[in-house]
Amino acid sequence: MQQADVAIIGAGIVGLAQAWAAARGGNSVVLFERDNRAQGASIRNFGMVWPIGQPGGEMNARAMRSRERWLEASAKAGIWHDPCGSLHVVHRPDELAVLEEFAAVAPAMGFEAKLLTPAETLKKSPDTNPKGLLGGLWSPTEVCVDPRQAVARMPAFLQETYGVKLRFGTTIQAINLPEVATTTGERWQVRRAVVCSGTDFQTLYPETLAASDIRRCKLQMMRTAPQPGGHRIGPMLAGGLTLTHYAAFANCLSLPVLKKRIAEEMPEIVKHGIHVMASQNALGEVVIGDSHEYEQDIEIFDKARIDELILDYFATMARLPDMQPAQHWNGIYGKHPSKPIFTAEPSPNVHIVAGTGGAGMTLSFAYADELWAAWGKC
Ligand SMILES: Cc1cc2nc3c(=O)[nH]c(=O)nc-3n(C[C@H](O)[C@H](O)[C@H](O)COP(=O)(O)OP(=O)(O)OC[C@H]3O[C@@H](n4cnc5c(N)ncnc54)[C@H](O)[C@@H]3O)c2cc1C
Repeated sequence: MQQADVAIIGAGIVGLAQAWAAARGGNSVVLFERDNRAQGASIRNFGMVWPIGQPGGEMNARAMRSRERWLEASAKAGIWHDPCGSLHVVHRPDELAVLEEFAAVAPAMGFEAKLLTPAETLKKSPDTNPKGLLGGLWSPTEVCVDPRQAVARMPAFLQETYGVKLRFGTTIQAINLPEVATTTGERWQVRRAVVCSGTDFQTLYPETLAASDIRRCKLQMMRTAPQPGGHRIGPMLAGGLTLTHYAAFANCLSLPVLKKRIAEEMPEIVKHGIHVMASQNALGEVVIGDSHEYEQDIEIFDKARIDELILDYFATMARLPDMQPAQHWNGIYGKHPSKPIFTAEPSPNVHIVAGTGGAGMTLSFAYADELWAAWGKC
């Protein structure tokens, strides 16, 4: 029988953040991951640490605390990162109206965002489509990481720095504290267990997760080959559609006009929950997405039409030297309808942390810090 203070189940970003916070708090930690390397939502995303998408005030502050942790992890674990900021580019008057309204209140809400003229927007990102460009919203706070590299490197950092025990290829089948039951025959006793199993709602605590109202959401994504000649896009890019997606803009009085026009002009885009963003990793590949299909609409097979709609819209926003997707994939996250994160304690000292939706890379570190500040040393 092996022993640790804490067992973390799942080595996606939520589990990694939990393991880091628990270890920093002086706990001995064992991290279990059923696959030989994490393959869930955490390696399939844009790698956008995206405070500008969060509502102002408390959530923005949380995202900024997570951002600090990303910078710390990058420095200590050798994770590539680019604090390149973000640029929302707009080509329609109703989109500009939302940006103007948001920019006017942004400082009071804790954002550093600033409205740019078309010339300033093009200077920030020469890849912006100049045709009909009306302006942009520049924010310096967004950080780009390569999720594949970050999620692969964090476990080694945790092991080397804090002595976290890593158990990849090990599914946890049941938790009856102090014992957690593994599929490898290893036996572990722990004081606390944190279940960070992403969208696996079947293996552990299926009743709690079924009753949680967390909904699964499937996103289609693409990636270009490395841009030729070492070309960089500069800040991460978003367009007018994204203004209808993120909570930061939700209180803008000009938003309903924009939403109405989009619904009338682009019903297919709305049907598939498409809004278009782009990030660029260390290799120079540009990641482009995404769509949002929920529960009963989720199919195993991706829809070519969705990718076509995303690329067509992206072409209205930006012009890259190479716009051709070299890879296509999908990812599925769990999202709670009203809470930014779902936590539950199905039995004493067993915690579920899930439902981070489209902001797990942005918020997981701050949430882990908050939970472990409350839980303390085991
Ligand atoms: C396409 C896409 C793009 C996104 N873009 C962004 C973005 O740019 N910025 C942002 O902030 N967020 C983004 N998100 C959201 C973010 O990726 C998720 O919120 C986050 O990755 C969820 O992390 P997780 O650890 O809960 O889940 P996962 O990454 O799915 O990890 C769960 C892990 O638990 C393991 N596991 C499950 N059950 C067991 C068990 N019984 N025993 C052992 N291991 C188990 C699984 O194998 C898996 O590795 C995006 C999501 C997607 C899908």
